[in-house]
Amino acid sequence: MQRRLGAMDLSLAEAASLLTVEAADHLEEMAQAAHALTRQRFGKTVKLYAPIYLSNECINSCRYCGFNVKSSIERRTLSPALALEEAKAVIAKGHRHLLLVAGESPRAMPISLLEEIARAIRPLAAGLSVEVQPFDEAGYSRLAAAGVDGVTLYQETYDEGTYREMHPAGPKSIFGSRVDAIDAAGRAGMRFLGIGALLGLADWRAEALSLIVHARELMRTHWRAAISVSVPRIRDCASGFTPPHPVSDRELAQMIVALRLSLPDAGIVLSTREPAALRDSLLPLGITQMSAGSVTRPGGYTAEPGSGEQFHLEDARAPDEVAAMLAQKGYDPVWKDWDARLSG
Ligand code: SF4
Repeated sequence: MQRRLGAMDLSLAEAASLLTVEAADHLEEMAQAAHALTRQRFGKTVKLYAPIYLSNECINSCRYCGFNVKSSIERRTLSPALALEEAKAVIAKGHRHLLLVAGESPRAMPISLLEEIARAIRPLAAGLSVEVQPFDEAGYSRLAAAGVDGVTLYQETYDEGTYREMHPAGPKSIFGSRVDAIDAAGRAGMRFLGIGALLGLADWRAEALSLIVHARELMRTHWRAAISVSVPRIRDCASGFTPPHPVSDRELAQMIVALRLSLPDAGIVLSTREPAALRDSLLPLGITQMSAGSVTRPGGYTAEPGSGEQFHLEDARAPDEVAAMLAQKGYDPVWKDWDARLSG
């Protein structure tokens, strides 16, 4: 395995070997190989983005989420005008890559409203992705026509038994629906496809291997799209959920290294769920995208502090502080990586 660490084509068995307890003894060596591979494939660039929460209304009952239908939080859905104000506030901080986030509520956030919001915001942004309810190919085609170029949709857990336990009711309770939906987004021509497992729900080693399999399949099927994987750990939220399989900092580092070495061309995303010092130390292991200055409740960039956040964030640094950290470590923070040619 030592000779193979820098290889571009690790077999699944080799990828699995990077996730073992025994491999943890070689984490430093693996980290150096992951760092070199990231430099080779991505240079020194780290893309910065910010989420904009459009709605915290949701008909699902995910046990780990503060937006679940049973949570007694203050519910709010932004109008297109308010969403535009949020976008302007985020853009004023330097961001150009925006991620529109909403709970799953076809009543509060129908696709027509998402289209309207996307059309309003798109001229201001270099990249516009969505992390919202799943759609079919026709739905994603409508969003693409409105200017959306990326879809993020986490499977949450690839363990079917755990999935059923964590999603007892609502449309999200159908295991397989999210894998089908991200595939539909690829068929609709989305340029950026993001997947992830919510760490803490099931054995992280099995989740990492499933992520690798899923990402490779997306790369094979939707070779024109850029595929990214996220490694969010469960944070405190209004549902008071305690993760049954907590993941330590060192295990998170091993997972990131294994993902990089197994998926040399995939983006790896690290959000503000993690504390600032840990984010900085995980960066060289293969991270290529970071959120910065995030808030996780609708209207959070322009309104006074209030309740209704999805989960608690750990890294409270402003976007320019994160960019300064990146520059100080020799990275190029990327606010805008391409220009879209818009029609209509
Ligand atoms: S994770 Fe998403 S679908 Fe589940 S309750 Fe939260 S917002 Fe709704």
